[in-house]
Amino acid sequence: MLGFSLTKLLFTAAVVILVWMVFKHAGRILRGGQQAPSRVDRARRAAEEMTRARASQAQSAPEPPTVELVSCPQCGNYIAQGSACSCGYKDRGR
Ligand SMILES: [Zn+2]
Repeated sequence: MLGFSLTKLLFTAAVVILVWMVFKHAGRILRGGQQAPSRVDRARRAAEEMTRARASQAQSAPEPPTVELVSCPQCGNYIAQGSACSCGYKDRGR
């Protein structure tokens, strides 16, 4: 009963292929007779969506505020301009 034979294997392969082709054909009918988009089409569409998303993100996100760092003349640490250093030096700004 569990023995494998070439006939059983070929029959199983034929059934699998038949079911695959039926689903492929049914999918084409459900899409309205259009060809399935090729890999190139899908890749191009994905790239366009990514570019559009990045462009809209770049427009909506404002530039983060920048902090000008200056070297402390006493200890050499970089501190925000106009702030006090941990060594006690107070930058008065320029
Ligand atoms: Zn300092």
